[in-house]
Amino acid sequence: MVEQSGSFADLSLEVMLPGHESVLDELRRLVTELEAHPAATGRTRWNWFPNLMDRPAGGDDYVVYLVGSITLFSTGVDWLDVELHLAWDPHRVVSASVNVACWCSENHNQHSVHQSYWAAETDAALVEAFTEATAVLTRFLDSTRTDPDDLRTAAGLPNPRSHAEAGRPAQDAGSGA
Ligand SMILES: [Zn+2]
Repeated sequence: MVEQSGSFADLSLEVMLPGHESVLDELRRLVTELEAHPAATGRTRWNWFPNLMDRPAGGDDYVVYLVGSITLFSTGVDWLDVELHLAWDPHRVVSASVNVACWCSENHNQHSVHQSYWAAETDAALVEAFTEATAVLTRFLDSTRTDPDDLRTAAGLPNPRSHAEAGRPAQDAGSGA
């Protein structure tokens, strides 16, 4: 079960963060500013998982219930995006991450080359977490880095041999004569 939105301002934060009504406008202001970054405009998508909104009983898995992503590069088989999460870990946290597609021989789908977490249980912690997370992501957008190869190399991860090669249709070999 997922509900989607193109902008943070359209999310039902009153439902996602019950009891924190007094800081929701501040959270909206912070994220709307991030979404207005020139590198983010038109590239933002929010997915909310209402069935995961309650803190899981027992278990200490990292469970994301709201994810906002800004896609900076994508060919379908390779990508670079930044994400902001609301998640249980097992208490509520906000996280900011920079993610690239995986090109390991074993496919892990993607890797987070940067990830930070902030506790977000109280009004004050929520504001601080969103302030820090949006600042981290804004700094990454400011860096204008859009090449996942560079980030994988810096993280010691393998790259595709070349994007041209990865995206090239099979050669029509053996059709001569
Ligand atoms: Zn991998």
